[in-house]
Order: sequence, then C-alpha cells, then structure tokens
Amino acid sequence: MRSGAMSAGKYKVEYSPPPGYDLPRPVWKSLNRLRTQVGRSKDNRSRWGFTNTADLACRGGTTPQTTPHLICCPACPYTCTQEDLMTAADSAVKVAEFWAGDI
Ligand SMILES: [Zn+2]
Repeated sequence: MRSGAMSAGKYKVEYSPPPGYDLPRPVWKSLNRLRTQVGRSKDNRSRWGFTNTADLACRGGTTPQTTPHLICCPACPYTCTQEDLMTAADSAVKVAEFWAGDI
C-alpha cells in the first residue's frame, strides 16, 4: 500500500489510499461505485440515458435496481452497510466481488 508524507512549505501533508486500495481492480472499482452510489445499476443507467428499457427490476425480482439496493439485494448472498463499504470490511468486499461484473 502506498502511503507517505510530503512537505509543502511549513505544512506536512500525510496521505494514504482509502481502505481496499489493494483489491483486484474490478473489485476495487465495484467497491468505489457502491461507496459513491454511482454504480451502473439499472436505475442509474436509465437515468443517464444508457438504456431504453423500462425494466428496472433487479435480478429476478420486482425491486428497482438502485445502487443502495445492491448492498442488501436478496440475489446477492452477502449484505453490508455503507460503513462497511467505507472501511472495506469483509462483507463489503464480498458484495463488491459479487457485483463486480455488473456495475
Ligand atoms: Zn436485487
């Protein structure tokens, strides 16, 4: 993990990458999309004009596939909280792995 410090005049700036930085790229990308709620869910794709379909239902259900829904979707064997996403907890990583190919 990259981290360190740099000096800018009289100020010392400490930096470190967010938790989960070392995950494989598809999982890291999925985790960040879930964190920021800008994943390519059906709801977002429709809002952004990337699909013409009116079917916003999540996998085999009737619940609209919104980004907040993805962390508690019954189709995913794992659930997590927004806090788990921010800390890259194991549950959040498993959810991110599950959706990595979709969002
Ligand atoms: Zn779902």
